[in-house]
Amino acid sequence: MPNPRCELHFSNEFELLVAVILSAQCTDKRVNLITPALFKALPTPEAFAHTTIDNIYSYIRSCSYPNNKAKLVHAAATMLIDNYNGKLPQTLDELQKLPGVGRKTANVLCSVLWHQPTIAVDTHVFRVANRIGLTDAKNVLDTEKQLLARTPADALYFMHHWLILHGRYCCTARKPHCEKCGITSVCNFYKENN
Ligand code: SF4
Repeated sequence: MPNPRCELHFSNEFELLVAVILSAQCTDKRVNLITPALFKALPTPEAFAHTTIDNIYSYIRSCSYPNNKAKLVHAAATMLIDNYNGKLPQTLDELQKLPGVGRKTANVLCSVLWHQPTIAVDTHVFRVANRIGLTDAKNVLDTEKQLLARTPADALYFMHHWLILHGRYCCTARKPHCEKCGITSVCNFYKENN
């Protein structure tokens, strides 16, 4: 995949923020089913901030943890309006002040929206990077640091997507599908188990 892309659908920075918050513990496919009606009804941060949490909930109830996520996106939109003139701040530290935005989400936003040299490590990236041997880390933060240090700059933007998609569709959590994997020759896990 020479040009992998974020699988979440969005048409502006705020929509990606909302979609990433909704995607926690939920599939991108499910989020993509929810967001068209949500963004049609509430097209701006102002609309999210000025509506009720119950109204947001009514659009997102089919995703996981809808109560909590409705509160988070409402609070994030309110903070954007109050503190950032309705625009997303473009630094990792400031993004993490927004409700619902942890380090992984902030990294996704910095990479996908502004191509900053960051890499978001979620459970797929953590597992796949360590299985292959790109990293040798016990936690997501060390995995992020090692990937940042070891990935050529021109591949950094794609690395998150390569690893996440490989983990989602081939090197899956329960059982890696090594029989259909194209990188067995460079994978430590494969070498150690075959
Ligand atoms: S060879 Fe197996 S363990 Fe290694 S990356 Fe491929 S699927 Fe994962």
